[in-house]
Amino acid sequence: EVTKRYAVVTGANKGIGLQICKQLAQSGIIVVLTARVEKRGLEALQSLKDTGLLDHLLFHQLDVADPESIASLADFVKKHFGKLDILVNNAGILGATFSIPPGSEGCWVAATYKLNQIAEALIPLLQLSDLPRIVNVSSSVVCVKPNGGDRLKEICDISAGLTTEEKLSEIISEYLRDFKEGTHLINGWPTLLSAYTVSKVALNAYTRILANKHPEFCINCVCPGYAKTDINYNSGTITTEEGAEIPVKLALLPKDGPSGLFFVKGEPVSP
Ligand code: NDP
Repeated sequence: EVTKRYAVVTGANKGIGLQICKQLAQSGIIVVLTARVEKRGLEALQSLKDTGLLDHLLFHQLDVADPESIASLADFVKKHFGKLDILVNNAGILGATFSIPPGSEGCWVAATYKLNQIAEALIPLLQLSDLPRIVNVSSSVVCVKPNGGDRLKEICDISAGLTTEEKLSEIISEYLRDFKEGTHLINGWPTLLSAYTVSKVALNAYTRILANKHPEFCINCVCPGYAKTDINYNSGTITTEEGAEIPVKLALLPKDGPSGLFFVKGEPVSP
């Protein structure tokens, strides 16, 4: 009998995440479609009922910003599958674009911290897999250098080593502080899509750190391409099906696949 493989996809009630679930299920993976709002997640699952894939799809609530919710998902996976093969960190909100409502400061950057928590909660289960894969859905906004400022370069330069995780969290704390004080625009941080960009650059750095820490895994980050979704008010130029393709390919990497890389248009780029 073929060994079953299990995946968790975050932010999967719509957009690219939902298509990632569908394509993974089509590849024979048992997929936990997660969403922060249960009703939206269950409706998304139902939207796939005509595909004949429902025997490969389950729902579990997951708010990536809520540690209790993360712990509950990890318990669910442990109890039902005893291991995990694939984690796709897809959840995302544009959050901070040009102005950020008070109280939601650095929502995005803070969300990147939580990603560490999701990875940490699920890594013990991924370690029980023959082919553990983590895919972090990032964005090519990180490649827009003129928008970068000096501080972004510091994060881009983080590659591997024992002190890097501490360094990353230090730089992010500084961003949050500057953000709170309203000095982030003059202190060398990006001005356009500021928190979003910092969060994705940090996500890429975290991907490299994690890949170095777990050489037996394939851990990569990827820009899905400019897909038509709510995040860009449906102004994207490719479909969500197309946007899901490279993330899914990275989730299904064979033995000895690449790790610690950032893929744009299907090819590795720096950083
Ligand atoms: P959507 O807005 O369609 O989907 C975003 C998903 O993230 C939704 O399911 C949303 O849930 C979920 N989400 C937001 N906050 C949380 C949270 N705290 N916990 C759990 N889920 C959450 O956008 P996309 O499909 O376009 O985005 C998917 C990923 O792709 C994001 O990481 C985005 O940054 C990235 N990306 C997208 C590009 C594009 O052109 N579309 C380009 C580059 C990167 P809810 O419905 O409840 O809000």
